[in-house]
Order: sequence, then C-alpha cells, then structure tokens
Amino acid sequence: MPRHKIIMLLYLLICAQICYSQNKSAMTKKFAIAIHGGAGTILKKNMTELQEKEYKQKLDEALNAGYVILEKGGSAIDATEAAIKIMEDSPLFNAGKGAVFTNAETNELDAAIMNGNTLEAGAVAGVTHIKNPISLAKLVMNKSEHVLMIGSGAENFAKQHKMILVDTSYFFDENRFNQLQKLKQTEKTKLNHSDEQGDISNFKDSKFGTVGAVALDQHGNIAAATSTGGMTNKKYGRVGDSPIIGAGTYANNNTCAVSCTGHGEFFIRNVVAYDVSALMEYKNMSVIEAANYVINEKLMKLGGSGGLIAIDKNGNIAMPFNTEGMYRAYKKSSGEIDVLIFKQ
Ligand code: ASP
Repeated sequence: MPRHKIIMLLYLLICAQICYSQNKSAMTKKFAIAIHGGAGTILKKNMTELQEKEYKQKLDEALNAGYVILEKGGSAIDATEAAIKIMEDSPLFNAGKGAVFTNAETNELDAAIMNGNTLEAGAVAGVTHIKNPISLAKLVMNKSEHVLMIGSGAENFAKQHKMILVDTSYFFDENRFNQLQKLKQTEKTKLNHSDEQGDISNFKDSKFGTVGAVALDQHGNIAAATSTGGMTNKKYGRVGDSPIIGAGTYANNNTCAVSCTGHGEFFIRNVVAYDVSALMEYKNMSVIEAANYVINEKLMKLGGSGGLIAIDKNGNIAMPFNTEGMYRAYKKSSGEIDVLIFKQ
C-alpha cells in the first residue's frame, strides 16, 4: 500500500478512536431519577403490610421504567413521562386511572411537563377523556406553540394528533367514589363552613396521590413532570398547582427540576417550584437547602401542606415534605436507590 494511503488510514483510525472515546465519556455521565406519588396523612399504623407492599412495588416499577430510559442514554423528558405513565395507569395514585372525584362526580385531570434544557413546557388541565394526561402535556410542548390547554380544546388537540380518548367510565374507581361521598357527608355535617372551606379544612385529613417525576439524563439535561386528579370534591372547574408552570412543575438546567404535591392553592400562591429554582439562582443555595427551606419554613408558616421532589444538574436529589408521609423513590447511576413512604 502506498505510504500516503497508510498515513490516511492511520489518521482516520485515530479520529474514529477519539470520536468513540468522546461519545463514550459523554454517555457514561451520571444520571438519576426521583418520583413521588403524593403527600398527606400517610401513617404506618393506617396501612396494612399488603398495601405498603403494593405501593412500594408500583413506585419501584415506575422508577425503573424511567431509569432504563436514562441508562440507555434516553432523555430526561422521556424518562419522567415513562415513570408517570406507570403511576397514571395504577388506581393506587391520584392521577389517570386513580384520579379523585370532583363534587360533580366527574374526574378532571391536570398534568405538566418541562424541559430544563430548552425551558419548553406543556400542560393540560380539566381533561376528562385522556388516559395518560402526561403524554398529552408532552404533545402540547412538542407539537403546539402553546403551553397550557384546557378541557375540550385540549382533547380536540389530542384527537387531531391521533391520541386515543377513553370513555369517562374508565376513571371510575369505587374507593375514590366512596372517598368523595364521605367528604361530602363530612362537609354537610360541619357547622359554620362555606363551600370552599370544606375542601381546605379537609385536606390535612386526607392522603393525596398526585404523581411526579424529575430526572437528570446522561446529556446533562433535567426535566420535571407532574400529573394529578386534583383534590377530592373540587368544584367550579378548580385547577391546582400541578399544571401551572412555576407552581407545581418547573425545570431549568441552570438550577433544578421540581415536581410538587400538596394543597395546590398554597403552591400556586407561593410559586413553589420556581421559588426553589430562584433560591438556587439568586441566593446560591443548594437544591437540598432551597427545597427544605421552601417546604419546611416558608410553606409551613403559611399552613400549606405537601412536599416536592427536586434534582439538580449534578444529580443531587431533595425530597422534603411537611406532612406525615410522602410516597417517594429515587435511583442514581451510582447504584443508590430508595423507596420510601413514611417519615424517616
Ligand atoms: N397539588 C394537587 C392539587 O392541588 C393535589 C395533590 O398534590 O395532592 O391539585
């Protein structure tokens, strides 16, 4: 072989080697995922061993659905969506199949997703025929110029994009229905209350199962996603914090990705998810300091109950809550994993 061809071949081989090792190092970066299944009065004494096992198994399944995507080099957005879909399809959580009932005995679902790399976001509120609202939120983000769509408009958009709509009977769950009847009864027998106060005063006694996920992928991008049926007995088309970008869901590669759960009105008024990010950005707090401060100091003082999960670009995870418990789990590429329900 002529000399110049050998040199050319060697040159190509070296280039290929450099490319391979660069790609490899880019793809072996750390990654992590955290999920929640709602916060509330979740006490060990009120749960059977079997129930605890069921919750933990489902959390583990959701966690791993997201984790395998990250492991293969997939995006944080896809990982959070996959984890949430598993929980939406389970009657255990207040999202999708297990959504709570409104005062009018319907199920109105909200969801949001946000990409920390591009700051793109998509959300839906008050949808009644969407099996996986988180996928519709992702569709809004990827295929429209809008951020938030509601009710029948959002469902028309889903139809246009060939998403299958389900009958409202899909969301009927006897336990959830009984929960509503019980709450309505309590409301009736309570003296000196207004319609709205009924929901608020009852929040602390209930357990809520909004679901959320935050992830860091191997490309260094973070994302947040949240899906919920809202609060039992909600009225007048009430929408909580989950689909409100900055309140229940937020992601920014420069700071963190956050998904909240709890009494939505407090989370909206306090712009909780963005507040965690802002404390990191403007006060240089770590994700753990910022998340703890917002949930256990600021929100607590105002009487807002709930919690959140947050992740930063280095894979640090915070999971504070000011209630008795929060269904939560995380898994990191370092091998660290935990699935928890109660206060530690
Ligand atoms: N944050 C949700 C809402 O207010 C409820 C929850 O997280 O349990 O709609």
